[in-house]
Amino acid sequence: SLQKKTNFAMKLILVVPCYNEEAVLAETTRQLSLILDELKEKQRIDEGCILYVNDGSKDRTWELIEQFAQQNDYVEGLKLAHNVGHQHALWAGLEWAADRGDAIVTIDADLQDDVRAIIDMTEAYLRGNEVVFGVRRERKTDTVFKRTTALAFYRLMQMMNSNTVYNHADFRLMSRRAVNALLSYPERNLFLRGMVASMGFKTEAVYYDRTERFAGESKYPLRKMLAFALDGITSFSIRPLQLITLLGLTFMLISVGVIIYGIVKHFEGQTIEGWTSLMVSIWFIGGAILVACGIIGEYVGKIYIEVKRRPRYFIEKTTTDDDPLADPYADIPY
Ligand code: UDP
Ligand code: MG
Repeated sequence: SLQKKTNFAMKLILVVPCYNEEAVLAETTRQLSLILDELKEKQRIDEGCILYVNDGSKDRTWELIEQFAQQNDYVEGLKLAHNVGHQHALWAGLEWAADRGDAIVTIDADLQDDVRAIIDMTEAYLRGNEVVFGVRRERKTDTVFKRTTALAFYRLMQMMNSNTVYNHADFRLMSRRAVNALLSYPERNLFLRGMVASMGFKTEAVYYDRTERFAGESKYPLRKMLAFALDGITSFSIRPLQLITLLGLTFMLISVGVIIYGIVKHFEGQTIEGWTSLMVSIWFIGGAILVACGIIGEYVGKIYIEVKRRPRYFIEKTTTDDDPLADPYADIPY
């Protein structure tokens, strides 16, 4: 219960991945600090931390993080050695936060997610939830294009049996227990929202309105969005492979008809007329076979990436020098 939990020291860590976010970082720091101040004042938390994970930014993001870490007691930073992408940057932050915080919130740097929802999430955590999903109530401020593609994506995910919460991205709170459970997943193809949804802890959703990016531009162009959607499907579902089988069976049924038709035509002495239908079928079936190979290839590619077991990221620097992670090569025996 609330009473029992608040008897213990409670530390909340906000994990914020940043890729070229120099334009928003000052405002993000200001707003997140205010939220942590408020939670402390209301005695919902004892300690707060904002962990910025610099995902190989090419602009002044890291310099700003270092500067804020000096000025602001909440702020810490991890500098990844190169750009590993949103999902892996989140993972790096979660690994750092897992044994340092009691509850961990992941939120984008661009202030598109309502920071006030963090307060509701904390309350939900104190009520005993291990995972609290931030769910967008509406998408008025997204462009028509982003909105339709995003909704099509959620629909597709449902059709493909992937585990996702409708309209939930990567804005969520997890208890230390849930984070450790997530970190026990060995896969390299990360689709965090699906992985968290599949864990099955006690969860709740918190609703908020999504606003526009505070500054800067989206780091998810269409190409990355498509790749991410494909990852979401092929990491969680073998439905596409089953569809190939279904397609194959359908073609076999059709071909029975075609064979009968061909024999009848042969005995009627009109075989030369079959040229058109033959050409059409060759192209169509050729295309279908290529698509089938492609889908299988997607999964084989996934297996290839998984079996390599490569490290997900390297930390180059942190803002805390008492930290063992500060030397990224400490564990490597050469
Ligand atoms: N991001 C990252 N690495 C990347 C791309 C994005 O860490 O390679 C971060 C980015 O800084 C932001 C979050 O992931 O905090 C979401 O990106 P963005 O807001 O550009 O995506 P959108 O909201 O447009 O889908
Ligand atoms: Mg954004």
